[in-house]
Amino acid sequence: MDADVIIIGSGAGGGTLARSLAPSGVSILILERGDYLPREQPNWEAEAVFREHRYHTQECWHDSRGRAFRPITGYHVGGNTKFYGAAILRRRLADFEPREHRDGTTPSWPIAYKDLAPYYDIAERWYFAHGQAGLDPNEPPRDEAFPYPPMAHEPYMASLVERLQHLGLHPFPLPIALNRNASDPHTSPCIRCTTCDGFPCLVHAKGDAEVCGIEPALQHPNVRLIRNERVKRLETSADGRQIETVHTENGVYRARIVVLAAGAIQSAALLLASAHDRAPTGLANRSDQVGRNYLCHINSACLAIDPRRVNPTIFQKTIGINDFYDHSGDPDFPYPLGHIQNLGKVTPSVLQAQHPHLPTGIVRWIAEHSVDWWLTTEDLPNPENRVTIDPQGSVRLSWNPRNTESHRHLRASWRTLLHTLGYPIVLFQRMGIAATAHQAGTLVFGENPQTSVLNPWCQTHDIDNLYVTDASFMPSISAVNPSLTVMANAIRVAEHLKERFAEGRLP
Ligand SMILES: Cc1cc2nc3c(=O)[nH]c(=O)nc-3n(C[C@H](O)[C@H](O)[C@H](O)COP(=O)(O)OP(=O)(O)OC[C@H]3O[C@@H](n4cnc5c(N)ncnc54)[C@H](O)[C@@H]3O)c2cc1C
Ligand code: SF4
Repeated sequence: MDADVIIIGSGAGGGTLARSLAPSGVSILILERGDYLPREQPNWEAEAVFREHRYHTQECWHDSRGRAFRPITGYHVGGNTKFYGAAILRRRLADFEPREHRDGTTPSWPIAYKDLAPYYDIAERWYFAHGQAGLDPNEPPRDEAFPYPPMAHEPYMASLVERLQHLGLHPFPLPIALNRNASDPHTSPCIRCTTCDGFPCLVHAKGDAEVCGIEPALQHPNVRLIRNERVKRLETSADGRQIETVHTENGVYRARIVVLAAGAIQSAALLLASAHDRAPTGLANRSDQVGRNYLCHINSACLAIDPRRVNPTIFQKTIGINDFYDHSGDPDFPYPLGHIQNLGKVTPSVLQAQHPHLPTGIVRWIAEHSVDWWLTTEDLPNPENRVTIDPQGSVRLSWNPRNTESHRHLRASWRTLLHTLGYPIVLFQRMGIAATAHQAGTLVFGENPQTSVLNPWCQTHDIDNLYVTDASFMPSISAVNPSLTVMANAIRVAEHLKERFAEGRLP
């Protein structure tokens, strides 16, 4: 054995699991496909990040019709949390139960909010969650206050909060994962810059899975990380009940327990790529559910422009709005619409990098006068939205989001409100298939082995020593950002694994 536990992937699910398991003393080997993301000036350059895609993969994937696209994702220690906007919200109570939407009803989770709540508390502490309880209109109950105070609104945003409240809305401080010490800005690791959402943090102040998961885990002598070690295939015992070997591009590893945390798309692809004579449709796939029910938020970026007023905000990602989360407020469309939060401030360089054809003067004017938002509607599960691998071994992603009518309503409601607030120009951009940031589903957990890949402990129904802790376990994605739930669930699974080791129930 090379370790008691092999963890494949070091992002939100893998990194948090490693930190959680490390103090127990079990030996842990983390196999990470990527390297440390280099700390260098271009970390904070929009041109490098968004135009040259310096930190994104060069891979080419295909959609259901065979059209090629470049996914906006990267492979690094810390996974996609290296780029995340660090908005970390808890799922709502009702997100664990069937919820009726315009285009269908979401499935129930095999666990309830109360099963995850203690682990949300821990994840928020580990990831520097800044927030304020009691203001988010449908926030779930919590035992502890947020570990850090909310990120303060800059004056323009504070006045916007008042104006939103005046219209009867309930804006709340967006929970955010940054290592900020507001009482001593001089020594605070986080400097509240414009280059946070979508950028890596040059000064390592973002609460990402490298800083808050892998680094603390590596303080323990029983934890090892091997970088640039891409796992290609898993091999089972003759009876198919155990993973015996983990094959990478460079070698073969063995462990008592194997945890897959390569991200929802790559974890499914890896199980499919591990097909062999006795499991011709892939590992852990007796249900034929591996890769199915791919979920990705239906997202739009929104720039609201007030030509009379410059928005001088630097750190803008401070407001969340959940007034449309449970219902639209329109009796003719009585469905949930989704969640709204600020984007990081769209600067001229960010806009120019993403829209190089626009004249510089127009880009500058738009960015100076805009306040920027991110709209999220829940995508609904559909077995035909799925990950498969084509004969060359590359990813094929079929995604036709379900619930787009509700997203149109969200945009229309928000546009009307923004006009009322004094923003006559409102621009939207819908995210397409390449925006895989909020990927989930593909290996969903559930009680029934016919309809799910994992049991409620995120152990595969078919293979006793194989677990999954990335975003693929989610049978529904809700309309809040997924990371905190991935982190909390990884801590929950770690508790189960610790018990399993303590009781000696091991292969
Ligand atoms: C631009 C951007 C903004 C985002 N903003 C937010 C936000 O504000 N809030 C939020 O909650 N979420 C946000 N997200 C989403 C968030 O990053 C993901 O939900 C989260 O990282 C998912 O965790 P994971 O463990 O499933 O996968 P990841 O964190 O992606 O980790 C997967 C890991 O597996 C590794 N890997 C992949 N294949 C292999 C292999 N074959 N062998 C070995 N290792 C492998 C990868 O390199 C990676 O390190 C954002 C994402 C992006 C890209
Ligand atoms: S805002 Fe803070 S955490 Fe984000 S990139 Fe800037 S310094 Fe890093």
